Amino acid sequence: MLSERMKHLKPYTPGEQPRDRAYIKLNTNENPYPPSPRIRNFLQNFDPETLRLYPDPESLRLRETVAREAGLTPDQVLAGNGSDEILSFAFYAFFDASRGPLRFPLYSYTFYPVYCDFYGIPFERVPMKSDYSVDLDGFLKSPLCGAVLPNPNAPTGMAHTLTALDGFIRRFPADRVILIDEAYVSFGAESVAPLINRYPNLLVVRTLSKDLSLAGIRLGYALGQKSLIDAVAAVKNSFNSYPVDTLASNIAILALEDREYYAELSRKIRTSRDRFVQALDIKGWETLPSRANFVFTRKAGLAGQEIYRKLRDRGFLVRYFNLPGIENFVRITIGTDEQMISLEQAMGDLE
Ligand SMILES: *Cc1c(COP(=O)(O)O)cnc(C)c1O
Repeated sequence: MLSERMKHLKPYTPGEQPRDRAYIKLNTNENPYPPSPRIRNFLQNFDPETLRLYPDPESLRLRETVAREAGLTPDQVLAGNGSDEILSFAFYAFFDASRGPLRFPLYSYTFYPVYCDFYGIPFERVPMKSDYSVDLDGFLKSPLCGAVLPNPNAPTGMAHTLTALDGFIRRFPADRVILIDEAYVSFGAESVAPLINRYPNLLVVRTLSKDLSLAGIRLGYALGQKSLIDAVAAVKNSFNSYPVDTLASNIAILALEDREYYAELSRKIRTSRDRFVQALDIKGWETLPSRANFVFTRKAGLAGQEIYRKLRDRGFLVRYFNLPGIENFVRITIGTDEQMISLEQAMGDLE
């Protein structure tokens, strides 16, 4: 019954969402705080009559809002159902087997190889530097059809500065797309969006899932020069031309405009993160320097899976990766201070 290509499909495994008991859920990098209070107000007064109509296929009002916030023009923005969807369109538009492999960091977002398999894009994982940072020079070897890297990277949380990325993009082949995934950029890293008008091959992908606390509406967007955006839009329009629904679009606009509220959330999460890392330090944990809303940490003598299992027994969900080189780490999302304090107590007596 299955098509030939189905036999080779290797789907992505999202972080688990178990229901056997109430966990403190720190495994999928969701925001522990509610989204902008403007959204509650909007939903309470929302007239469902508008749902009778299709949404705007161009998401113009949303793109205008994003463009204003990013200092770009609306034709330099494309909106989609989560950045995962935008990434899949971009992979289709820019990467293929004809010009060499796609490069991404050895330890990185695990959806990239899934899209590569789906679209038949060969890929090469670039080894990390000894401190687990992304080795930018490792991306410059040819041949390659393009590169994708998150900044800050996941699951390490480490980020490069704007200056370092500028120097890197300048040296990157001008006829290959460099895609920077900024899912976590507003937790303390620098965005490369200000470079977009200088580099016709730079595509930036963002999501509202993490920093704007809106994982439930599925909204992400791409920023780039018009020719790149037009190419991604052409893929979108070959697939489903109405991806962003009316409710999601309205909610996203309200969130993007409530800068003050979200600046405060980001500040709170960064403060909790830094406090948590300090507390772990004292208890003998080694944590990579994070600029995201999660940390990547390990303790001598403990395997990641073991930490995961013991914390799960104590009611905390974290994530571990069964990959050689990072098998002793766990990735922990930063929750509220209260959650982090009870977690650090649980981690204090792990043996
Ligand atoms: C969470 C995440 C995404 C996906 O975001 P959605 O908009 O929820 O699809 C993309 N890239 C990275 C690196 C992420 O961690």
